Amino acid sequence: MEAATTRDGRPWSPSFLEAIDYEACIGCGRCYKVCGRGVLAPIDKPFEDDDDDEEECATMVMSIADGGACIGCEACAKVCAKKAQTHTAC
Ligand code: SF4
Ligand code: SF4
Repeated sequence: MEAATTRDGRPWSPSFLEAIDYEACIGCGRCYKVCGRGVLAPIDKPFEDDDDDEEECATMVMSIADGGACIGCEACAKVCAKKAQTHTAC
């Protein structure tokens, strides 16, 4: 892949959103609000399949809906207080 640059030509290394840890995510939506690329979408938290399911309430977590649209700006990581995201360079 060709090296990325900023608008005025300075080197830029994107760090793309790779994964979200559903156990750490509290569904606050902060990452969703700052992402201008439509990468993220809130979903119901997937539960482990065990006998206690009936007593649990649905909780929202953030998911990667369109990872291919990510430009690796890391704005979502900066606002995540739970460090629930994993980013990787290309
Ligand atoms: S790195 Fe930037 S473009 Fe990618 S999901 Fe996070 S805020 Fe959106
Ligand atoms: S900012 Fe972090 S804790 Fe909040 S919804 Fe996004 S990934 Fe989850």
